[in-house]
Amino acid sequence: MSGQIMRNDSNRGIPRTIFKTEHELFRDTVRRFLETEIVPYHEEWEEVRLVPREAWLKAGETGLLGTSIAEEYGGSGAGFLFDAVVLEELGRSGATGPGWDLHSYIVAPYIEKYGTVDQKRRWLPAMVTGEAIGAIAMTEPGTGSDLKAVRTTAVRVGDEYVINGSKTFITNGINADLVLLVAKTNHNLGAKGISLFLVDTKSVGFRNGRNLKKIGLKAQDTAEMFFDDVHLPVSEILGEENDGWRYLMDELVQERLIVAVRAMATAEVALEQTIAYTKDREAFGTKVFEFQNTRFTLAQLASDIQVGRVFTDRCIALHAEAQCDSVTAAMAKMWLTELEGKVLDACLQLHGGYGFMWEFPIARAWADSRVHRIYAGTNEIMKEIVARTL
Ligand SMILES: Cc1cc2nc3c(=O)[nH]c(=O)nc-3n(C[C@H](O)[C@H](O)[C@H](O)COP(=O)(O)OP(=O)(O)OC[C@H]3O[C@@H](n4cnc5c(N)ncnc54)[C@H](O)[C@@H]3O)c2cc1C
Repeated sequence: MSGQIMRNDSNRGIPRTIFKTEHELFRDTVRRFLETEIVPYHEEWEEVRLVPREAWLKAGETGLLGTSIAEEYGGSGAGFLFDAVVLEELGRSGATGPGWDLHSYIVAPYIEKYGTVDQKRRWLPAMVTGEAIGAIAMTEPGTGSDLKAVRTTAVRVGDEYVINGSKTFITNGINADLVLLVAKTNHNLGAKGISLFLVDTKSVGFRNGRNLKKIGLKAQDTAEMFFDDVHLPVSEILGEENDGWRYLMDELVQERLIVAVRAMATAEVALEQTIAYTKDREAFGTKVFEFQNTRFTLAQLASDIQVGRVFTDRCIALHAEAQCDSVTAAMAKMWLTELEGKVLDACLQLHGGYGFMWEFPIARAWADSRVHRIYAGTNEIMKEIVARTL
């Protein structure tokens, strides 16, 4: 396959063919950056439950935050294959603190697709450098899966919208400079009464609540947000009034694939770590790897992972051509995060008691990845989406 590098860290199974030399060169940059600038500090950040801004700025300098954003706004406009490289390397490194995936591949695309030129100029260049950190606020204390039941309101008064309500579980919630807010502009229209807004967190009436304590993703700030009579100029609406639901549905394909891509990479690295661990660890005078149970478990996981990898790569390639539909994205998110859960649980078991120790990557990955079956739409909601098409 000329011009293509068949990169597969495990050196086993079906060669990958979706990436070219330029992607693999970029992968080396991302991997080096994570190994030197992120991984050594991650434990400190877990203690304070925050990734410092300097790390965001360094990621911006290295070109990690703007792979999808157009060149005219400071990004490289390189496309989803480059995004996938960043996602895979984040998954591989176990660096779950930085909420770059949400910032770069969820928040920024909304602004790029639906924003005015002024909105794009104001936010996108600063998001590429890491000077402005983005969050998306959909979930509320009373509703998550049933997004159209949000109660946050945006009432038009003259040339302004007045925002009232609260949000919870918001990734980058403490660090955020910009919140892409989901609010109701018309209570009587259900999903058709939803609009999106760009809220500067310096706005009067905006405040953070708690930085929530979680069982995983400990270095990531996941926070509550409150909006008390926040006055926004009408120019801060994103796209058209009452059109927000349509934008959300369009963008959820990418949101789900992001989780799927990361889950796949996390499962792969867990398998490699567990093969290495069991080949090193001894019990009953032999390597743990030599027990038939270990070998069969790992053989099963390696086979499952191979199947998942081929499906994931096909989804990545389709999405890079804007051809991945929402049902396929839902299948990918659901199936690959279930695979990830199965792999991590079995790999943790093969580490014995050390698998339960936070200092072991497998313990962290097990706890960190649990949320993949919950956020970006729970896996039950993914099944609903698939079932509707049957
Ligand atoms: C670490 C973390 C980060 C997050 N980041 C963000 C963020 O940045 N922005 C944001 O807006 N949100 C974020 N979320 C919220 C997340 O998207 C929601 O938690 C998720 O959508 C589920 O909503 P919920 O928690 O209200 O659960 P609920 O909707 O209350 O669901 C409870 C249970 O009921 C099931 N259920 C609900 N409806 C159905 C149905 N129709 N059929 C079958 N089963 C159903 C669910 O699958 C689940 O098992 C984050 C959450 C976490 C934990």
